[in-house]
Amino acid sequence: MSQLKYKRILLKLSGEALNGGDKGQVIDFNILDNYAVEIKKIADAGVQVAVVIGGGNIFRGASVEKSGIDRVQGDHMGMLATVINGMAVQSSLEKHGLKTRLMSAIKMEQVCEPLIRRRAIRHLERGRVVIFGAGTGNPYFTTDTTAGLRAVESEAEVVLKGTRVDGVYTADPEKDAQATKYDRLTFDEALNKNLKIMDLTAFTLCKENNVPIIVFDMNKPGNLFDLVMGKTVGTLISN
Ligand code: UDP
Repeated sequence: MSQLKYKRILLKLSGEALNGGDKGQVIDFNILDNYAVEIKKIADAGVQVAVVIGGGNIFRGASVEKSGIDRVQGDHMGMLATVINGMAVQSSLEKHGLKTRLMSAIKMEQVCEPLIRRRAIRHLERGRVVIFGAGTGNPYFTTDTTAGLRAVESEAEVVLKGTRVDGVYTADPEKDAQATKYDRLTFDEALNKNLKIMDLTAFTLCKENNVPIIVFDMNKPGNLFDLVMGKTVGTLISN
């Protein structure tokens, strides 16, 4: 087996990607099955895997502000949505034979473990896939920021942001035929070009703590494995 480039990774999956497009489902379990297959490949190769899952397929806090619902209340609803997704991810991974732990930043001990950093690291060392639920536990943040924070805290070497596109482009490739993909960017270049890769809080956290981000297509089989083996996939953003 060739050398692993990354031994501990933080995989960020968007909640929105789980709804399977226009099929009207909240969670498409076929998508989760596909993710589980890809995650199993890297876990079997010896990579320690932490996952942060979003909640956008169920609820986004900011979306209810217009209805007069308090933002903080909405954000808590959004964080609970990420726990629902986390439970779905956990079940899929376990179905594929992986050992997992779901840890929540908001205590709900009947459902999952409370987030304790040292315990999370221990789980990773023992080969369990750790799913971080409930975002940061605080309103006004996002699950991208959670991904950056948990990567730094759990000493992951990289944030792998799984998306539906194969990297970062000069412009929206669906609207501009001239758009080209970047293989590499520095954090400063991405900021100066105002490329919307992650929100600024997430970006700053990764930049200041020197954790690179790779944006890649999570739906292409083998991509995740190739990435941890050090192949050029997607767009790498680093200092
Ligand atoms: N959220 C929050 N604090 C966090 C993470 C998430 O308040 O630390 C809430 C926020 O309302 C957000 C929702 O949870 O809209 C779902 O997360 P996100 O929008 O990041 O999910 P994604 O876009 O990845 O599906």
